Amino acid sequence: MRFAIATLGCKVNQYDSAMIEARLSALGLERGEFGAVADVYIVNTCTVTDRADAESLRMARRARRLNPLARVIMTGCLAQANPATLTRAPEVDAIVGLGRPGDLERAALGSMSDRVMVTDLRKERAAIELGAVTLEGRTRAFLKLQEGCDQFCTFCIVPFSRGKSRSVEPRRVMAAIDQLAEQGFKEVILSGVHLGGYGKDLEPAIGLEALLEMIAERAPIARVRISSLDPEELSDRIIAILAQSEKFCPHLHLPLQAGDDWILSRMRRRYSTAHFSERLERALAALPDAAIGTDLIVGFPGETARHFDRYLKFLESLPIAYFHVFPYSVRAGTTAAKFGGRVAAEEIRRRAAVMRELGERKRRVFAQRFVGRRLRVLFEEADAHGRLQGYSRNYIRVTANGGAELSNHEVEVEASFAEGAQLAGRIVRTEGCPCGASAVGSPG
Ligand code: SF4
Repeated sequence: MRFAIATLGCKVNQYDSAMIEARLSALGLERGEFGAVADVYIVNTCTVTDRADAESLRMARRARRLNPLARVIMTGCLAQANPATLTRAPEVDAIVGLGRPGDLERAALGSMSDRVMVTDLRKERAAIELGAVTLEGRTRAFLKLQEGCDQFCTFCIVPFSRGKSRSVEPRRVMAAIDQLAEQGFKEVILSGVHLGGYGKDLEPAIGLEALLEMIAERAPIARVRISSLDPEELSDRIIAILAQSEKFCPHLHLPLQAGDDWILSRMRRRYSTAHFSERLERALAALPDAAIGTDLIVGFPGETARHFDRYLKFLESLPIAYFHVFPYSVRAGTTAAKFGGRVAAEEIRRRAAVMRELGERKRRVFAQRFVGRRLRVLFEEADAHGRLQGYSRNYIRVTANGGAELSNHEVEVEASFAEGAQLAGRIVRTEGCPCGASAVGSPG
C-alpha cells in the first residue's frame, strides 16, 4: 500500500510528518510523492493564517482528484484547532488531531472507528513522540523536546491548536542525542513550539538551563543549536552556557514580533523594546560573533504609520543578523481577531516589503563581517560542480571547493568573499572534525 504526506507550516509540523512516515513505513506501507497516485494521502495541516487553512483544504481536493478511491486523512493544527472546517469537506475521510498516532495508523489502514478523532489538548496531556528527524541530509537533525504553549499571545492560535505545554524528560532527550551521535550526526537542533517553557510541566519541574547544562557536560555531539527562544527567556545563565561550551553554536533566534512597546503590550508579549536591546547587548558581549535572528509581524491591528516608523528605526539600530517577516493576518479564534484598527492589506504588504529589504541588508552586512576570517563549517553534500555547502556555527551559509569525502565533516574555512548573504572560501584545516578527516581544497 502506498501513502503520501503533504506538510504545511513550521519545523515542528515537518518533524511530526517525519514521525508519521516512520510509523507507516514500519507497518510496511510505502512512501510515494504527493503528486503521484497513492492509496492513502495525509495532509499535515497548518492553521497559523486563514491562507494556511485554505491551502490545507486545497491539498485535500488535490488528493481526491489524484485518486478518487484513496483515503484522505487530515491531521495537524487545523485538524486539532478547528475540525469542523474539515468535516464540511466531502473529500476528507478522516480527521485525526495531534498526539493520536495510533488513530492515524488505523485511519491509514482503513480501520478507524470515527471520522473525527480529536482530543482537547488543553485538558488532556498527550505524550510527545520522540525520535531523531533529519530535514537536511544526514548532517543536521531536529529533536523536538517540547510541545504546545501556555503563553496565549493575542495573535497566536498555537495554544489552541497544539495544546498545553509539555516536555520530554531529560533522560529521554539525552538518550536521543546519544543515538544521533551513534548514527553519525554532527549537529542537533533543539526544537519545540515554545522551548522556553521546557520542563515546567515535569515532576519534578526542571528549567531549560538545567537541560542545556546536561547537554554541555555530557552530550557526545559536536554541535548543538537552539531553534528559538523568547527574548525574556534568554537568561544570563543560558548566555553563560553558550559562551563557555564548545558544543553550543553561537546562534540565537529571538522572536521580537514588534519594535514598539504599545504594540508589544497589545500582543501580550512579555518584554519591552528596552528589555530586548539589553538581552541582545548582553548576549553579544559574551558571544561577539553570534548570529542573532528574529521574527517580526508587521501590520498588527492598531499599528499606525508612526508606530511602524518607530519599529523600523528600532530594528535599524539593532545588531541583528537576519529577520523572518510575517504580514499580520487575522486568525479566527485569537484575541487579536477582535481588535479594531485593522491595517489595509496593501499597506501591510508595503510594510512587509520595507522590513524584508532591511532584513536582507542586515544579513549581507553580517556575512560581510567574516570575509577574511576563519569559520568552522559543517559541510552537507557537494553540488554538481564539486562545491561543498554548509552552515558555519554562526549560521552563515558557506561554500568551498572540496572532495565529497568532506560531506558531514566540520572543517575550517577561510572566507574569501561574500555572495549576497552567503560566503565563499577556501578550506584551510580539516583536523578538528571529530572524525579527523585529512584533505585540503581551493577557493570557491
Ligand atoms: S509564545 Fe506566543 S507566539 Fe509563541 S507559540 Fe506561544 S502563544 Fe504562540
